[in-house]
Amino acid sequence: MNKYKRRLNSNCLPVIAIDGPAGAGKSTVARLVAERLNYIYIDTGALYRALTYKALQKGIDLRDEKALSDLAANTNIRLLAENGAAQRVLCDDEDVTYLIRTPEVSRYVPFVARVPGVRANLVRIQREMSLNGGVVLDGRDIGSYVMPDAEFKFFLTASNRERALRRQKELAAKGFQTDLIELEKEMIERDLLDSQREVGPLVQVPDAVVIDTTTMTIEEVVYKMLEIINGGEK
Ligand code: C5P
Repeated sequence: MNKYKRRLNSNCLPVIAIDGPAGAGKSTVARLVAERLNYIYIDTGALYRALTYKALQKGIDLRDEKALSDLAANTNIRLLAENGAAQRVLCDDEDVTYLIRTPEVSRYVPFVARVPGVRANLVRIQREMSLNGGVVLDGRDIGSYVMPDAEFKFFLTASNRERALRRQKELAAKGFQTDLIELEKEMIERDLLDSQREVGPLVQVPDAVVIDTTTMTIEEVVYKMLEIINGGEK
């Protein structure tokens, strides 16, 4: 069942879907686009990260699909979405906003995200948050599966080296020192796992506007996206 009927009335604001591999700049531009439009930003990766964090805390075997599905069904993950602003992530009322950004969580999250029972639960949350439109979602399967009827779909990419450099800077700002080559390798592995899973894989849909951000500034990417959104181009 891939079709999901979101539009309950024609006054719904648009949905903007942004997909792409790790480190392509999705979350930064998604947040800015949401801010400029006064829309709500939904960081879907944060949901998968929060569940991964909890699974690691509980020492759950990540090969145990049933245990992970049960965990997803019994965990209350909330994104405190404010218009545009950075959001807080709550996992059973624990604030995990920063705890979910560690290299350890990044490494293990694809193993949790590939489980169908996990995805079903987390996709439901994403759709509930998007029901009235006026949202910008970034992830891997937004345009293809979560919101196939989104008005605007973008697919952001960048070279492997550039993506690794960006992630290294981001981690350094949070106090994590990482090796660039190692980071690039891990990112490629994560993208491969995300692309090859059976449910909700990372995929570039034919109706998405592809933006290669390798040599673009954040402002340039945001400008380009807003031009398309405001111009009504698809
Ligand atoms: O976007 P971010 O890098 O934070 O996502 C972390 C991981 O969460 C991805 O590598 C992927 O395994 C998973 N994810 C997903 N589907 C999404 C968003 C993220 O499977 N829509």
